[in-house]
Amino acid sequence: MEQLFLNLKGYKRIAIMGGTFDPIHYGHLVAAEAVRTEFNTEIVLFIPTGTQPYKQNQTVSHKEHRYLMTVLATASNPNFAVSRIEIDKGGINYTIDTINELISMCDMGTEVFFITGADSVFQILTWKDGASLIKKCNFVAVTRPGYNKNDLVEYAVNLKKSHSARLHFLEIPALAISSTDIRGRIKTGSPIKYLVPHEVERYIEKSGLYLRHDFSADILQRLKKMMSEKRYIHTIGVAKEAIKLADMYGEDAEKAYIAALLHDIAKEMPNSSKLAMAKAVGIKLDEELEKIPTLLHGYLGAQIAKTDFGIDDEYVLDAIRYHTTGRANMTLLEKIIYLADIIEPNREIYEGLPQIRQKAFDNLDEAVYEGIIDSISYVNRKGEHVYYLSEEARDFLKNEDKLGG
Ligand code: ATP
Ligand code: MG
Repeated sequence: MEQLFLNLKGYKRIAIMGGTFDPIHYGHLVAAEAVRTEFNTEIVLFIPTGTQPYKQNQTVSHKEHRYLMTVLATASNPNFAVSRIEIDKGGINYTIDTINELISMCDMGTEVFFITGADSVFQILTWKDGASLIKKCNFVAVTRPGYNKNDLVEYAVNLKKSHSARLHFLEIPALAISSTDIRGRIKTGSPIKYLVPHEVERYIEKSGLYLRHDFSADILQRLKKMMSEKRYIHTIGVAKEAIKLADMYGEDAEKAYIAALLHDIAKEMPNSSKLAMAKAVGIKLDEELEKIPTLLHGYLGAQIAKTDFGIDDEYVLDAIRYHTTGRANMTLLEKIIYLADIIEPNREIYEGLPQIRQKAFDNLDEAVYEGIIDSISYVNRKGEHVYYLSEEARDFLKNEDKLGG
């Protein structure tokens, strides 16, 4: 019978191959097939990881690209299947949760073999709930060029003793292939033929994957050209704070990073251009905006982020749009960008700032509230009119605070 969703019932032995697969290559496929035949598993389930948290300037390709390449690479093997379990989940995925979920989908007593290359097996105990994870199923540590076989055997023996782990060691044909190397080859125009299945090679060509620097590196380069040095330094400061805040409050760090990088792209436009562009893109100008066009730079920044940088995620665009004024009922990302803008380390110090910096990682709403209060009193001191969105942001947070006790 035709089936859309993966059914794990009826299998006695299954192997699991988790990975970023950015891209999938013959090293993965050889390891999977070796484990399947050696341990007599009926299938190998490939599980591409979901969205990865932002890591040191390195962006992982979109999960759907990685999923599709995994499907293409495994399609011709009737014993290979691909699971969307982590792709569909969102947020950060932990192996322990995935394994638990898979085990619950299997018949009682199904033997599960989790495949790990020599590099990743050494890290198992550092993974979330590593000590209990290691007891959940069998692990197969496969050899990988660059990693010493004896170290691996010794590690397996020790872990068996110390954690009564079901850890097996398997020597497989040495393929000195890594996704990192493949990405590097594509950037420099070197061939990847015979390192990845032909279908994957074609997909990479067609989609233009790995050709350019990663997305954020690309943005950084363009920003450097577009803005003054001072604005650029401020922007980087905001981006770093935004990532920290995102990690702290459970926001998508990638989105925080992109929104922060682009939040001030319209700031240095001359006022006349701001007004002209606002009219051109149909932003309704009220009296205050006409008088203080700098209030427009969030809206215009969102517009430029969309048309010139291809950002179409409205959630990210709103964080850019409302970073100057705030608004009632701000999203988590809006609060993070608003606050990161205030607390970034290169900003000139003013009286209330140390307190906000302290609060930022303690109570997000209170910190945002104080930021808005400070900015309103600053506008008042300058004798300017306070924009209504900021007043609404203030009142909203104040009321919420009361409700929350
Ligand atoms: P990257 O270079 O981006 O880390 P990778 O080639 O290591 O990519 P992953 O997706 O990180 O690929 O790997 C998934 C799993 O496959 C890991 O357990 C890894 O150790 C294993 N693996 C990857 N390449 C090989 C290989 N050539 N031989 C044996 N195992 C491998
Ligand atoms: Mg790896």
